[in-house]
Amino acid sequence: MKIICIGRNYSEHAKELNNAVPEKPVFFLKPDTALLTKNKDFYYPEFSKDIHYEVELVIKISKVGKHIEEKFAHRYYDEIGLGIDITARDLQNEAKKKGLPWEIAKSFDNSAPISDEFINKNDLPENINFKLDINGKIVQNGFSKDMIFSVDKIISYISQFYTLKIGDLIFTGTPEGVGPLTVGDKLKAYIGDKLMLHFDVK
Ligand code: MG
Repeated sequence: MKIICIGRNYSEHAKELNNAVPEKPVFFLKPDTALLTKNKDFYYPEFSKDIHYEVELVIKISKVGKHIEEKFAHRYYDEIGLGIDITARDLQNEAKKKGLPWEIAKSFDNSAPISDEFINKNDLPENINFKLDINGKIVQNGFSKDMIFSVDKIISYISQFYTLKIGDLIFTGTPEGVGPLTVGDKLKAYIGDKLMLHFDVK
């Protein structure tokens, strides 16, 4: 399976990082070794001094597809979960400055904590609220309607380049409010009022 992540899919977040709002979806990959499941602790890596959280809705692909038309994209996923796109912002800024790829900042081991549970999309409202609480304070509070590129658009666009396979995950981008993690932080991530994912930073 592969993990595809969309960058800059919420305009307020693009602005907070001084990025232009993109005309086409921006995406990158994480390997399966990035997944952190079962609410296990996240260990702060030695190679960065500026690890950031980004809470994101995650789509699970349920059907193989290539060159999927936007109007049929909804047939290719049934379930939505929640994940954190953990980013070594210092390494990313260095890579960006040099015009290099971001992989080093985005794809390291355990950089994709993810909910064990996924919710059937039919059980969710059209405009999905999701949020991240750190140490009892809500730091990100997003709504899926604020995505620049809808899930259907993302699936259609990505499938021009990659065959989508069953079990592939798509991180759909983060709303504003990203920030640094510190050892000792306790994270809780919600879809609506449902606790989907929680872990500690060690
Ligand atoms: Mg992200």
